Amino acid sequence: MQMSITFQVDEAPYEVITERCLCTHEGEREPWVDCSSCKGSGKEDMRLPLYPESNMANSNAFALMSIMNITQEYCGVVDITDIPEVIRNLIFAINSPRTRATIYEADYLVAGRDDDYVYDRCQDLLGVFRKAIEVQRPVFWG
Ligand SMILES: [Zn+2]
Repeated sequence: MQMSITFQVDEAPYEVITERCLCTHEGEREPWVDCSSCKGSGKEDMRLPLYPESNMANSNAFALMSIMNITQEYCGVVDITDIPEVIRNLIFAINSPRTRATIYEADYLVAGRDDDYVYDRCQDLLGVFRKAIEVQRPVFWG
């Protein structure tokens, strides 16, 4: 199972940029034939998203889902009609330290998740959902 979850606007455009694979050590070495990233080509395509997206570890994503009041699943979709409520929930959490505390206290306590973390992820997600409203597309995660 994948270790992280990305929230993104459906059909969000992206650019593909080709970079030297890390196995070449900035071009100083021949690519490693068995490299799992470039398979020996020495080049790797990187996907550069043009819309905001938010990636986080599964446990953090599940915690944020509870703040957004969406079903806690490893993948899913928020339809356009449901996005305004999610935006309201995020803005509420951004303005409410007590709401944010509900997901870094109690049973969701994991290393590295504190109030700053939750606040920043709420802001990231707000950017994703606002972009979705702007372009009238659902948001999916997985
Ligand atoms: Zn490589």
